[in-house]
Amino acid sequence: MVQSIVIVGGGSAGWITANLLNAHCQRAGRKTQITLVESPDIPTIGVGEATVPTIRRTLNDIGLPERDLLVSAEATFKTLIRFQNWNAGESYDHPFDRRRRPLTDDAVSRWTAQNNLPFDRSFSALTQLADDNVAPKSPRQAQYQGSFPYAYHLDAVKLANRLASFGRERGIQHRLCNVTDVTVSPEGLISAVNTDHGDALAADLYIDCTGFRSALLGGALGVKMRSFAKYLLCDRAVTMRIPYDVHKPERLLTYTLATARDAGWQWDINLQNRRGIGYVYSSAFLNEDAAEAALRQHEGRHCDQLEARHIRFTSGKRQVSWKGNCVAVGLSDGFLEPLESSGLYLIEFAGLAIATMLDDFAAAPKATARYYNRISDELYDEILGFLNLHYVISTRRDTPFWQAATADEAILDDLRDRLELWKRRSPTQFDFPGADRLFAQDSYEFILHGMKYVDGPVSGAPGVPDLSALVGKSRAELPEQEALLALVQRAAAVQA
Ligand SMILES: Cc1cc2nc3c(=O)[nH]c(=O)nc-3n(C[C@H](O)[C@H](O)[C@H](O)COP(=O)(O)OP(=O)(O)OC[C@H]3O[C@@H](n4cnc5c(N)ncnc54)[C@H](O)[C@@H]3O)c2cc1C
Repeated sequence: MVQSIVIVGGGSAGWITANLLNAHCQRAGRKTQITLVESPDIPTIGVGEATVPTIRRTLNDIGLPERDLLVSAEATFKTLIRFQNWNAGESYDHPFDRRRRPLTDDAVSRWTAQNNLPFDRSFSALTQLADDNVAPKSPRQAQYQGSFPYAYHLDAVKLANRLASFGRERGIQHRLCNVTDVTVSPEGLISAVNTDHGDALAADLYIDCTGFRSALLGGALGVKMRSFAKYLLCDRAVTMRIPYDVHKPERLLTYTLATARDAGWQWDINLQNRRGIGYVYSSAFLNEDAAEAALRQHEGRHCDQLEARHIRFTSGKRQVSWKGNCVAVGLSDGFLEPLESSGLYLIEFAGLAIATMLDDFAAAPKATARYYNRISDELYDEILGFLNLHYVISTRRDTPFWQAATADEAILDDLRDRLELWKRRSPTQFDFPGADRLFAQDSYEFILHGMKYVDGPVSGAPGVPDLSALVGKSRAELPEQEALLALVQRAAAVQA
């Protein structure tokens, strides 16, 4: 049995993983001691504000009440991503609700005949509700349940802080110190992590959550990166926080805005008390000063006095995520640029998989590591393909960045064949083998049709569903996001 786990790193990866493992062990009646070591000197990355709907399952699994999350992480509801300018001057949505099947062939021809109808509006109610700022749930619905699928925008630093106190209250040991070196046995197993407090912390399993430093897996065990830079050109971000007392938008958006720019794209995320904005760009086409100037110019004069942060990153993944008795989770394992908010999802997936495999690891450590590495690679490759799609089918050629991002050599081989097929037809279920994918047929349809890539009709007997009754009923019954958040805040204040 795995009796002790040492996690190094106290960002989102460290605290989500620690809490998931703790909750699973406690439910299974296992007495596994979890210790999280966090540097008091090295800050967390401080970004990671947009999530995908699985976050609800994860936080519920951990046991954090939804109201607690909304208050402590200043979270808002996210129901879709709105893409602007990925084809010059155009806009489309990637919503979390799925088009309904089966619909009739007749409806297919109707959609084809009315091809000037936007695909997203035809097949998703959330795209229409987002215009009116409608929340995906009512105050009467149970926590983490809604009328539509939803995720959150949240303050990543505040979420990690809340998960830290939540985990400590439930028995996770928290050490504030620096891991200065790692003792590795001749067999290549970690036997202790050594801290600047003079401790040598030993465990059955070590989890590396040290962010881009990757102190255990990359550093002590020497596992190299596999780069995705050929397919995802962006490698920098410049970010700002805009408090609402400096500038408040007319309404709090229920979506992430992802606007394509000359050398990448820009996010705009509305939290309860501030916005987070960031220009993700390629350093081959823009330098830091020019990127910051572009971000400031786009935002307006009200951000003149606000500080900007510059972040360097690489899209890539360690050649193996699990080696011996060490597994890396979060940025220490890998990163795919933030376009579809997959960073926290990768952590949720890893934390849940490790929790499920603890007994496997005790019984068959090598097979467990090999199997975990396979599923982890498959997941990264799946997300890589989906992100690559957003760029390579763009019709933009107006800047050197867009010429490079759409060039033939930037297309993933795996995607290339499917793109040839999708030019003539919409994706079918057979284009997405494998269970439980993060991005499958529906997601691809919204991107491919949103970008007007497909010439033929939508396949698989879909058509234009009549969403008017659903949209009308939802508008009547569901509150606006700000009204719902105000209710949550009032209830929390009364409880306190
Ligand atoms: C520009 C950008 C935008 C992003 N946007 C999103 C998004 O919208 N949605 C999303 O899901 N994800 C996003 N991500 C990814 C997301 O930020 C990360 O996946 C997430 O924050 C996890 O980070 P982490 O915990 O792995 O690393 P970090 O936050 O960097 O934490 C590392 C931790 O390790 C500790 N540490 C390091 N070295 C030592 C040591 N020697 N001893 C002790 N402790 C140590 C540090 O103190 C820190 O606590 C984004 C990432 C980037 C770069």
